[in-house]
Amino acid sequence: MIKKAFYLFILVSLVVNLYSVSEVGAYRPEVAISASTLRPGDFFWLKVSAPPEVKVKARLLGSELLLHYYDNAFWSLVPVSYWTGPGTYVLTVELTNNTGGYIRKELPIQVVARSFPEQRIRVPETVRKKALAPENVDMDKVKIQKARKIAEQNPHPPLWKDKFIWPVRGRITTDFGFVRYVNDMANGRHSGLDIAAPKGTPVAAVNCGRVILAEELHCTGLTVIVYHGLNLYSSYSHLSEIAVKAGEEVQSGSLIGKVGATGLATGPHLHLTFKIGDTAVDPYLFLERELSY
Ligand SMILES: [Zn+2]
Repeated sequence: MIKKAFYLFILVSLVVNLYSVSEVGAYRPEVAISASTLRPGDFFWLKVSAPPEVKVKARLLGSELLLHYYDNAFWSLVPVSYWTGPGTYVLTVELTNNTGGYIRKELPIQVVARSFPEQRIRVPETVRKKALAPENVDMDKVKIQKARKIAEQNPHPPLWKDKFIWPVRGRITTDFGFVRYVNDMANGRHSGLDIAAPKGTPVAAVNCGRVILAEELHCTGLTVIVYHGLNLYSSYSHLSEIAVKAGEEVQSGSLIGKVGATGLATGPHLHLTFKIGDTAVDPYLFLERELSY
């Protein structure tokens, strides 16, 4: 009798446990962020621990965030553009499970002020007109968006490993976020780092990933874009030679191409960017660092 009662107790507690686990999974998910105070150009991690069948939608600054499911959670790298002014913004996360359970969470994100210096460069007016003609800018955009769409349709957990490395070593001639004027005309912000190096210097992949674009564009000349998974991309511009093809897997340190001055450039250098989706983020947050949360 005692034995029977004991087994019944075990069975009941097992059922209660299972029930509470699914309750917690479906109705009390854990929503965590790696930072809540950021500068323009920074990014943070969003982690929503929930079973894979739960539908998760997250939004910040009017954009829906791309989420990837791995390690029992939905993950997103969330960029804060250098165009974002200081203020408090709300990250909303909505979860719906298959029995109609619904949860909405709101997390305040504080963006602090960050000033970016101005920089004026001069190029022959014919070069500027050709590289920045609206139809050429649009053509470049379409090619990049198409390549990114393919990457988005084959979502990957992080492909990167260990620390991100410098693709080439040299003097930084233009830093991230600089307010750029080309021949005294406003040309937006500088989306990455300009690293000066002699023409022909080998350019290495900053980490493991897959090449999604390797071709000549009007503004950035011979360009390679590498997808590192989780919506993160690195790009290498103004190359004199390209050493990879779209679709190719690369390792950290793989040869991407060689330094050049193709496209809108005043001399040989590598223009290096890190983007989350379409938003440029500060390269110093990656270089010589490990990326984990
Ligand atoms: Zn540049």
